[in-house]
Amino acid sequence: MLTLDSKIEQVKRIGPRYLKKLHHLKINTVRDLFFHFPYRYDDFSAIIPISQLKEGQTATVQGEIIEIKNTRLFRRHLVLTEALAKDQGGTIKSVWFNQPYLAETLKKGKVVNLSGKLVFRKKALCFSNPAYEVINKAETTHTGRLVPVYHETVGLTSRYLRYIIKPILYLGGQIKEFLPSQIKKEFQLMDFGQAISQAHFPNDLAQAGQARARLSFNELFLMQLTTLKQKKEFAQEKSIAIPFDQELIKPFVAGLPFKLTKGQKIAAWEVFQDLAKPQPMNRLIDGDVGSGKTIVALMAALAVVKNDYQVALMAPTEILAKQHFETGKKFLNGYGIKIALLTGSTAKTFLKREVKTTKSKIKKEVREGKINLIIGTHALIQKDLFFKNLALAIVDEQHRFGVFQRAALQRRIHQIPDGLPASPAGGATTPHLLSLSATPIPRTLALTIYGDLDISIIKELPRGRKKIITQIVASSQRKKAYDFVRQQIKQKKQAFVICPLIEESEKLAAKNGAIDLKSVTQEYEKLKQDIFPDLKISMLHGKMKPPEKEKIMAEFKKRKADILVSTSVVEVGVDIPNATVMLIEGADRFGLAQLHQFRGRIGRDKDQAYCFLLIESAVGKTNQRLKALLTAKNGFELAEKDLAIRGPGDFIGLRQWGQPDLIMASLKDIELIKKSRLAAKFVLDNGLINPAITKYLNSLQKIIHLE
Ligand code: ADP
Ligand code: MG
Repeated sequence: MLTLDSKIEQVKRIGPRYLKKLHHLKINTVRDLFFHFPYRYDDFSAIIPISQLKEGQTATVQGEIIEIKNTRLFRRHLVLTEALAKDQGGTIKSVWFNQPYLAETLKKGKVVNLSGKLVFRKKALCFSNPAYEVINKAETTHTGRLVPVYHETVGLTSRYLRYIIKPILYLGGQIKEFLPSQIKKEFQLMDFGQAISQAHFPNDLAQAGQARARLSFNELFLMQLTTLKQKKEFAQEKSIAIPFDQELIKPFVAGLPFKLTKGQKIAAWEVFQDLAKPQPMNRLIDGDVGSGKTIVALMAALAVVKNDYQVALMAPTEILAKQHFETGKKFLNGYGIKIALLTGSTAKTFLKREVKTTKSKIKKEVREGKINLIIGTHALIQKDLFFKNLALAIVDEQHRFGVFQRAALQRRIHQIPDGLPASPAGGATTPHLLSLSATPIPRTLALTIYGDLDISIIKELPRGRKKIITQIVASSQRKKAYDFVRQQIKQKKQAFVICPLIEESEKLAAKNGAIDLKSVTQEYEKLKQDIFPDLKISMLHGKMKPPEKEKIMAEFKKRKADILVSTSVVEVGVDIPNATVMLIEGADRFGLAQLHQFRGRIGRDKDQAYCFLLIESAVGKTNQRLKALLTAKNGFELAEKDLAIRGPGDFIGLRQWGQPDLIMASLKDIELIKKSRLAAKFVLDNGLINPAITKYLNSLQKIIHLE
């Protein structure tokens, strides 16, 4: 007997050829099949008498086939199928191309439905390529109703999906409701099982809408429940309270070579408040590139170290870790703090044997508590590194790490070599966690994805930063931009060229580095050979190994190259104050927030910086969208715009969640987010988490951790 958990192999209508295609879409069970939702519907519900058909109309007629024939059009390599159908009041012709088998399916004398658009052809009204269905029972699948349309990938047509889903849709009744009835009632939500069947074959558009709302609600609800639950559990853990020491911090701030911005002050104040509590801090500082998050983190580190506890700062790349190491040494100089750097290639310049001893020496000193502040990459979460008394873990560019890695850093304190203990036993403490992110993210979105974090936002950049002059340039005007670059380089400045991904569909390949590599290599060759043969150009892309990237960035920093051609996949999270120009190719293919991120890599110095956004044509909609970059005050403003225009797909941290299509769409729906948050809170506070919910949460947890 077929159940939701049955493998699709057991579904009668699915043959081996399609099995492979379905597996390719990760559809393995009947349940998976049900969760493959249509993205729209064709409304073929109105059956209209043939005599009343009009040109341009989308309609369904029911009639008897009175004639059907195939004609081979040799010169065009086409087979044309023409059929004539009649009802009580008239006849209508239909034509199809290259589907000769239709002459077999729609035999003379059969009663059929034909659905589609009516066009004029050879002076007569006819259906062009209509959907068709032989009528032999009361219910129809492809015509005469709202018909689901699925994304057609890997050769799976909507017609095929309808054909296999419809007959087993009754199994939707087995889907268990997991929402408490109060919630369902309060928010007027459709029953889960019903939502599944209505999402595929809705009775009407209203039902389709309700089904979709229910399914989106599910995603948001579970997502928020996860984060709220984590937050609650976290709050029950213990950490070292670090009292705020004015005597220490005030002079430190006064000694800085600049005045803190308001945003920095507030963020620092919030961090100190958290640190003073005996529960672990879990705070994210979100601020544009260059907003000065590092110094806030260093203030926290200083306070903790001065209380004789250890601090770890983890960065996603070696070069960034090294930069933090230098910054840390500079600002914390004179405080008697021992700082060390630990990365995959620590002390690469030494002989192999010495590298090993250097690394193990650092590890030993960390374990013994001789090192107060350890800065590094993933090396910090390796199993053989133990702390004596870690009280604060800082994660820079946190979105570059998985949830698991972030947690791992924080859990090192427990000194359990493998795996994460669920919760510290007895007197053990959890370090405070401070995450930094330069991805401005709209507040509603942040609350949903990072619901377990408290957030400090730094909106402004330090005073005196010159606004980056940004221009939208049509491809045809490219030469002007090149001339400008040349001019800047003559003045001993440097330039970035950012290359785009090529096609949406190629994003996936780009993730593996393939397309990425192609576009960047082409651009590099072009610039080197045709445009700037006299200049020094280097290249950076996602396929390079970390030490190689490191070397190229370091050399660029030392002005060994004039232009760095880079892919968008490689984040250039490093200070190159001497770079004053950036050229972004295919700018229209990026989100506003992302462009803003790229742009933030320049203008780090007193000199005026310039950013050119190259697009195919400087007129039209894209241009309108990009213009926001010329006026926006900060990244948050752009992020809000992105969310409104493009949806949340561009924001990080979402890919790991359940039904990507649904979640993407629902994250645009602020009302639904609010409702689902209320519901999640209610369920959590009233102990209404039932086994069904737990099951869902666990499966989500797994997904997150596999990220
Ligand atoms: P991000 O937030 O991108 O990590 P950083 O912390 O790297 O930014 O700071 C960027 C630069 O701005 C650094 O050189 C830092 O020393 C400097 N900076 C930080 N705060 C201020 C400030 N209030 N005024 C002037 N410069 C500042
Ligand atoms: Mg930074």
